[in-house]
Amino acid sequence: MFMSSNNPCSFSALYTHISQNNLKYFSKIKNYVIIIKEFRLRNPFHMQAVLMNRLDKVLNTKGDFIMVTGSKELIRDINTHLVLETIINHATISRASTAKHLGLTKATVSAIVQDLINRKLVVEIGSDDTNLGRKPILLSLNKKAGYVVSIDLGVDTTSALISDLAGESYCMKQIRTPKNTNNIVSELINLIESMKAPANSPYGLVGLTVGIHGVTIHNQVLFTPYYNLTGFNLADQLNQHFGVPVYLENEANLSVIGEKTFQYDYSNIANISVHSGIGLGIIINDQLFTGYNGRAGEFGHTIVEIDGRPCPCGNLGCLEQYVSERSLLRDFSALKGKEEMDFETYQRMYEENDSDALKIMDQFIKYMSVGINNILNAYNPEIVIINSSFTIQFPHVLEKIEQCLKSKMNSYIKIVPSALRDTSILLGGACVAIKGFLGINNLKLNNTKYQSHQ
Ligand SMILES: [Zn+2]
Repeated sequence: MFMSSNNPCSFSALYTHISQNNLKYFSKIKNYVIIIKEFRLRNPFHMQAVLMNRLDKVLNTKGDFIMVTGSKELIRDINTHLVLETIINHATISRASTAKHLGLTKATVSAIVQDLINRKLVVEIGSDDTNLGRKPILLSLNKKAGYVVSIDLGVDTTSALISDLAGESYCMKQIRTPKNTNNIVSELINLIESMKAPANSPYGLVGLTVGIHGVTIHNQVLFTPYYNLTGFNLADQLNQHFGVPVYLENEANLSVIGEKTFQYDYSNIANISVHSGIGLGIIINDQLFTGYNGRAGEFGHTIVEIDGRPCPCGNLGCLEQYVSERSLLRDFSALKGKEEMDFETYQRMYEENDSDALKIMDQFIKYMSVGINNILNAYNPEIVIINSSFTIQFPHVLEKIEQCLKSKMNSYIKIVPSALRDTSILLGGACVAIKGFLGINNLKLNNTKYQSHQ
């Protein structure tokens, strides 16, 4: 890892900067060689990314080289994560191509690969299909090395998925969400233990993610509108029982992670999930954007109608009051003079060109276009993904929404329907647990099962 600067003063600035950020891994700084002694981040690969980022900000990139070195073990650990990430994200790759991709020597890569094979994380899967001399052996992630559990703690229904390290499902199960918060941990434990886990997996269960329909920050639930988990130590209690890392994350954030990992590998994504409420998962420059305290993406509570319909959040005219499935079906029932109507009935009547059903679709298109226009102007995403029964059942609606986005300011690539649909939260949760176990930042899984054919 090389950085450059011709200004020795930068070192004290650099040292101060990094110390202030509580990263006490500098033991000495001498002759432009920085020795890393101790670090307190989750994994070395992450540390490397943070370090690169910080150094870039502090130093001017001109002049002499600064070499950042560490103990042999640390460098080896960083390289191991890089090799593992490269193998996973290429699906299959040879040792030589991995070395070329990372700028490491073949000997280094071969030694690391052997270690990963011994640790049962990587497997050899035959030869590359070239006719140029000796065929290299291809490497791939040993997806059966361990498994993860992902839970979608929905408002009415709780779903659980057990998947391998490539996000491929072993088992899925649903229960009604416990209404009594005190029972949640025991019911989740019963649910997970009632599911068939893979036998003979070398690492067994390696991580667990719970998708929360509410605001989460630092693995804690900050606010949940439909069930009360605030201040409830869900992650710790599950961790005590299963003895593996437990990740709590907002459902819209998990959805966008799932879509990015399995289908839409873009660096800037806005993923809108329309269910009982409306969630927005945002990825900016390949990183999840959560805001100052996890509340970014409360898209349903952006105001689209001044002095409009009252919303439980305290404002008037929130988007959620016009385009959530709950609101649309409520409006449809009112037009039909009925107490309640379900989506299937709506779907049938829309297909029969019922004038009230068409009116409701026009409402969806109109307000969704306003909302998307606001997202495009606020975040400039490359693509917008919509996860809603209305767009999944009637994909032509997306074209109508695009026709409403007339602003000359807009420069997105496309608006697309969700690829993972109602499994996006579960699969996003699986990705979070898999990344945590493997210690990698960027995960790409080319699981064709989830790829839609657009
Ligand atoms: Zn609101």
